[in-house]
Amino acid sequence: MPDCLFCKIRDGQIPAKVVHRDDACLAFEDIKPQAPTHLLLIPLRHVATVNDLTVEEREMVGHLFVTAAKLAKERGHADNGYRLVMNCNRDAGQTVFHLHLHLLGGRPFDWPPG
Ligand code: AMP
Ligand code: ZN
Repeated sequence: MPDCLFCKIRDGQIPAKVVHRDDACLAFEDIKPQAPTHLLLIPLRHVATVNDLTVEEREMVGHLFVTAAKLAKERGHADNGYRLVMNCNRDAGQTVFHLHLHLLGGRPFDWPPG
């Protein structure tokens, strides 16, 4: 997707603090962190929103979660806990339309969310 910010980060056209890359996903630090750990995990393949997922992408979505759990554990958040968030469209506050999983850790989070 030519005008997609996260495709540009994936392709190295826009800099980001990349912490993990494999054949299916990329993880990098959020530019405006909301917690001591705030990573974004994106599929390499462009998918705009959760609404656009197909059954073929089941494995990729699972991979995002397994990778997030690995990164959370590496950062010492496994026992205390952490939050994984995927916002979809306007009411959830999605601002970048390339699927991404937020990994937030290092502080307590309120529930219900704002
Ligand atoms: P969402 O609101 O769920 O679409 O989340 C988009 C996230 O992308 C926000 O937390 C932003 O802070 C983050 N973000 C926007 N631009 C960049 C960038 N250039 N590098 C890293 N994170 C970004
Ligand atoms: Zn994209």
